[in-house]
Amino acid sequence: MPAPVNAHTHLGDAVSVREPPPGPVAQLIQPPHGYKFRLLANASPREKVAAMRASLHRMHRDGVAVTVDFREEGRLGVELLREAARGGSVRVVALGRPLARPVDRTELARLLAVADGVGLSSARDETDETRRTVARACRAAGKRFALHASEAVRERPERYLDPRPDLLVHLAKATADDLAMVRDERVPVAVCPRSNALFARQPDLGSMERLGLSVLLGTDNAMFHAPSLWREMEFAYVASRLRRRPVSAAFLARAALVEPWKWLGEPESALVAPGMPGTPVVLRLPPDDPAYQVVTRTTEHLIVRVRPGARQRAAGR
Ligand SMILES: [Zn+2]
Repeated sequence: MPAPVNAHTHLGDAVSVREPPPGPVAQLIQPPHGYKFRLLANASPREKVAAMRASLHRMHRDGVAVTVDFREEGRLGVELLREAARGGSVRVVALGRPLARPVDRTELARLLAVADGVGLSSARDETDETRRTVARACRAAGKRFALHASEAVRERPERYLDPRPDLLVHLAKATADDLAMVRDERVPVAVCPRSNALFARQPDLGSMERLGLSVLLGTDNAMFHAPSLWREMEFAYVASRLRRRPVSAAFLARAALVEPWKWLGEPESALVAPGMPGTPVVLRLPPDDPAYQVVTRTTEHLIVRVRPGARQRAAGR
């Protein structure tokens, strides 16, 4: 199969991997004073790089080819992520976040010089002016503009779709009508079912599949979950059935293996075929009903390592 893509991470959060303290989610992950932001502020750059490198290594062992990371802490945050990724085999799409409000255009330009785009907190945490300024700068630089939306409470799609983002994250509280608007605007959505479930939320994957949204899968905050798409897929599958809003295994397999490659503008990487650009992931699994095997039975120890060049040597024999 094609290599999976993790469409939403916050790898910097891996500076702490302890059980999160009790309390409302706002106290945990809300910028700028939530638990997570205090942890980040108290960790040294070296600790952050080591934590991000460990997370990237874990993803590599899981067969992940690319991760799309929301990196807080401005330009320095993105530089630390680049340092953590250097020499590794997981490609990082780094969506940074400018620090100053109102947005300082010089700071934003310096951020976009090292980042692949911007990933904002959410429409309700930012003013319309901030979203417009950031989206315009991303467009002008040929980079991506993404934001969280309708995670803890429903937000109006009229807000988070204007200006049109390249990616929305969560939509756990979106209604079916909201989802239809997102589909009509052709904006892909990264969902993180385990992260949502930790705070008693659940994206309506059944409606997303039925309405035909482009859905990608992410593992969200590295302080709460290992960045394992295999665990994410199985949880998403089982949880959707627990809620009696089942999704198909094929839909979730596409969310990890196909839709993100389209989002990256590299649909050819999702085809397993001679001459494909990447190295496919080979799994030792029963051959029946492949999507179901991938979604419900895969763990990293079933991955058969294929080294680049091995295929050519095998073909030459
Ligand atoms: Zn997030």
